[in-house]
Amino acid sequence: RAKAEGRARVEIFDQSLHVDARRRLTLESELRNALKKKEFVLHYQPIISLGSRAMTGFEALVRWQKSDGQIIPPSDFIPLAEETGLIVFIGSWVLEQSLKTLARWQQEFPRAEPLSMSVNVSPRQFHQTEFVEQVINAVTASGVPPQTLRLEITESVTIQNAQHAVGILQRLREFGVRVSIDDFGTGYSSLSYLHQLPFDTLKIDRSFVSALQSRSDGGQIVQTILDLAKNLNLDVVAEGTESEDHVKILHQMGCGYAQGYFFSRPLNETAVVEMLSAKDTAVEALPPLLANG
Ligand code: C2E
Ligand code: MG
Ligand code: MG
Ligand code: MG
Repeated sequence: RAKAEGRARVEIFDQSLHVDARRRLTLESELRNALKKKEFVLHYQPIISLGSRAMTGFEALVRWQKSDGQIIPPSDFIPLAEETGLIVFIGSWVLEQSLKTLARWQQEFPRAEPLSMSVNVSPRQFHQTEFVEQVINAVTASGVPPQTLRLEITESVTIQNAQHAVGILQRLREFGVRVSIDDFGTGYSSLSYLHQLPFDTLKIDRSFVSALQSRSDGGQIVQTILDLAKNLNLDVVAEGTESEDHVKILHQMGCGYAQGYFFSRPLNETAVVEMLSAKDTAVEALPPLLANG
């Protein structure tokens, strides 16, 4: 009996593997098609300076907008895109598109400190041989000052091959582009060589920000990260800032920048332009702290 059960289990297992493999194949060909048909769109989430309470720039976040209007979040297709290598094409589209948009916004809404654009870079994209060249070409073609592009990479990217990563980061920095470490605290904390990596900004993962709620032990971790960042001379952006309490605590703790639903969800281009055009007059439509600097 045990044998029969065992066989049944094996069959079920095989079947689910089969279904899984089929689903992946379908998704992969759908993704290839999406690239051809240009079904990707970018949404942009404001990043706010907690000192001046002004928007300093945006993070570009990709979505897949299917022909039927359905919007697929990145968590549903980025992992497979990364596995299959399609991420390299998606990533270069995101880079070029977001820089073109940034160039328009910088022209239309000039400031002493020009608006910036943060762009996520996947491990595969980062380690690809032409990556630095691609970044330089895209920035040059768009005409934006290199300092206004911020590439976001996660800790895991630098852990896989630290020497290689340092080399790429240095070339990017020489060109003038800024680099942020994304989702900080969720990977293997590479504390031992963090100081050797030429980052400009550290983004505290939202899991630590949501733990700020009321309990003080949540605050300890954030404070420790802020101290570390200060010692390493890094700017800090808190991700997932969802409440006024978060904002107050973060500001008190000395965190410079924040991003999150409290200020704004990621917006489409039209909504961003509306917000940037609003100047002081229409700010009341936005959360109290979101002023248009
Ligand atoms: P991420 O880079 O850490 O981006 C922040 C994510 O947190 C975004 O999710 C954003 O919508 C969400 N978020 C922002 N504020 C809040 C908040 O207050 N509360 C909560 N609960 N969530 C908030 P999204 O757009 O779904 O993107 C998820 C991840 O997908 C990104 O995490 C990034 O790792 C990846 N991703 C997005 N766009 C790209 C891209 O163009 N290329 C690559 N390689 N990865 C991307
Ligand atoms: Mg990011
Ligand atoms: Mg992040
Ligand atoms: Mg995150």
